[in-house]
Amino acid sequence: MRKTPCIFDRLSAIGFHLLLALAILPGVARADWISREEPIMGTRCAVELWADDRAKGEAAITSVFDDMKRIDRLMSTWKEDTEISLVNREGGKHPVKISEELFRLLQQSVKYSELTHGAFDITYASVGYLYDFKKGVHPDQKAIDAALPGINWRHMVLDEKKLTVFFTRPGMRIDLGGIAKGHSVDRGIEILKQQGITRAMVNAGGDTRILGDRFGKPWVVGVRDPDHAGKVFLRLPLTDASFSTSGDYERYFDEDGKRFHHIIDPKTGDSARKCRSVTIISDTATRTDALTKSVFVMGPEEGIKFIDTLTGVDAVAVSPEGKVFYSKGLAPPSE
Ligand code: ADP
Ligand code: MG
Repeated sequence: MRKTPCIFDRLSAIGFHLLLALAILPGVARADWISREEPIMGTRCAVELWADDRAKGEAAITSVFDDMKRIDRLMSTWKEDTEISLVNREGGKHPVKISEELFRLLQQSVKYSELTHGAFDITYASVGYLYDFKKGVHPDQKAIDAALPGINWRHMVLDEKKLTVFFTRPGMRIDLGGIAKGHSVDRGIEILKQQGITRAMVNAGGDTRILGDRFGKPWVVGVRDPDHAGKVFLRLPLTDASFSTSGDYERYFDEDGKRFHHIIDPKTGDSARKCRSVTIISDTATRTDALTKSVFVMGPEEGIKFIDTLTGVDAVAVSPEGKVFYSKGLAPPSE
């Protein structure tokens, strides 16, 4: 018996053609999760977001990456023509006028130096620049001793009215590698919000911020095992939060059983060795970025005690023996 064409067959045929048209027509609005990665600021940066309109979502991601590139052009010490490189060249000779954005970030850096009693200190670079982790170069004790007096944020004078920065000690340098990525991630989220995005993740290296949820579910982020790049030792469900991880496995070399890596103890000018990794969770990525270095330098016990004095901040620190320390808000319930 011949089957009469059914209305549903016709509808499904229409549906198929509609789908095909949506797939091939550029610019047709279609809600979806979209994501992209790009190497910026010497690291891997990524954005993932929910877009009601794919083209608008893609444009929003591009504007976040463009802003990260702009920040890199202001704040990278790897390039000669950035504002920060100018400050490092001229700041010991006379006050240097800088952009308001850089000035505010220097003020924030000082705030974290005060809060952490100098564990976080962007003038670490007065000694830090003597290391080359790619080439396996570290300064000897004589070179450290000569440059160490340059590490002290109190010798960086900020003039709020004139927007200038001046170093009162010769040979001083600053580096925003420990806070600028957090700042760029916070800016990225602001840019997305302005474009009407309500669910997103912005990441730059070790720093991530999350906007909204995943339709009733949290975002789940992983903290890697310090010894195995592919292994996650902790999963955290997060909504509207930032988190950063600092590890001694990012930029490092080993010499005679000693690890030299990019987090420097401002008191000694040597790599900080009381932690293997530190993860901080809080509201902004600028904050979580600055605080990972602070706890790393303080060590797990002192660092977690310090975090427990702050409100709205949590931390996980791994000791050299592999012991995991949690702040009060994350501590497993006691039996
Ligand atoms: P990532 O760049 O992957 O986000 P981190 O957040 O761990 O890595 O930051 C490491 C960087 O922090 C170093 O490369 C250096 O530029 C900077 N830094 C190192 N020690 C200190 C310190 N004691 N205070 C402030 N910044 C620091
Ligand atoms: Mg960071």
